[in-house]
Amino acid sequence: MSAVIADQHTDNSQPRIPAADHHRDVNGGWLRPAVFGAVDGLVSNFALMTGVVGGAAEPSTVVLTGLAGLAAGAFSMAVGEYTSVASQRELVEAELEAERIELRRNPQGELAELAQLYVAKGVDPELAMEVARQLSADPDTLLAVHAREELGVDPEDLPSPLVAAVSSFGCFALGALLPVLPYLLGATMLWPAALLAMLGLFGCGAAVARVTARTWWFSGLRQLSLGAAAAAVTFLLGRLIGGAIG
Ligand SMILES: [Zn+2]
Repeated sequence: MSAVIADQHTDNSQPRIPAADHHRDVNGGWLRPAVFGAVDGLVSNFALMTGVVGGAAEPSTVVLTGLAGLAAGAFSMAVGEYTSVASQRELVEAELEAERIELRRNPQGELAELAQLYVAKGVDPELAMEVARQLSADPDTLLAVHAREELGVDPEDLPSPLVAAVSSFGCFALGALLPVLPYLLGATMLWPAALLAMLGLFGCGAAVARVTARTWWFSGLRQLSLGAAAAAVTFLLGRLIGGAIG
């Protein structure tokens, strides 16, 4: 930001082109899915563990529950993410293939269609036709331009289902591991796990604030309260059910 202000006074003869990275990544990039995966793991596994603790389970059962919850949740996240990204990608690829066929079958119609898109954005019809013609000169650029204008996607940069699956598996597992750790290290009470889970939730909330432009402490506290509420409810449920079946 300071570089932008400094620049404006040094050279007034030429308009300054902003750097490509002068915006926040509004899609959230990798940070958003990573943090939400970790929050998901933390909340679901911590709540699961408080549920069995509420039902007066032995520490060994709590550890087993926590580890099983970690594995089950991480696999479920990975499968869900893989399926979702893969089907989205297949849909886009089918649309790209349709566009490729249409460009081959009806190049003039596609040229007019592209020009029309620029006219709709306020470009003069003749200039729009000229821009469309120049963009259509190279076959690779042609498909990329149509994909971007009509489908809103970059054919060279489609999301990978495998990357999505592996990263959501890892993030969920990391979050889910946090409340299990104290038990693995020999703790027999819930409170060290609760403390660690609350710290983790606050940290995740604060990290999300980097993407959402909220203050870090507001975002952190909100995440902490929601997670704590989920755990408190499952603890009570565990107590009720544990009392009924015990
Ligand atoms: Zn087209």
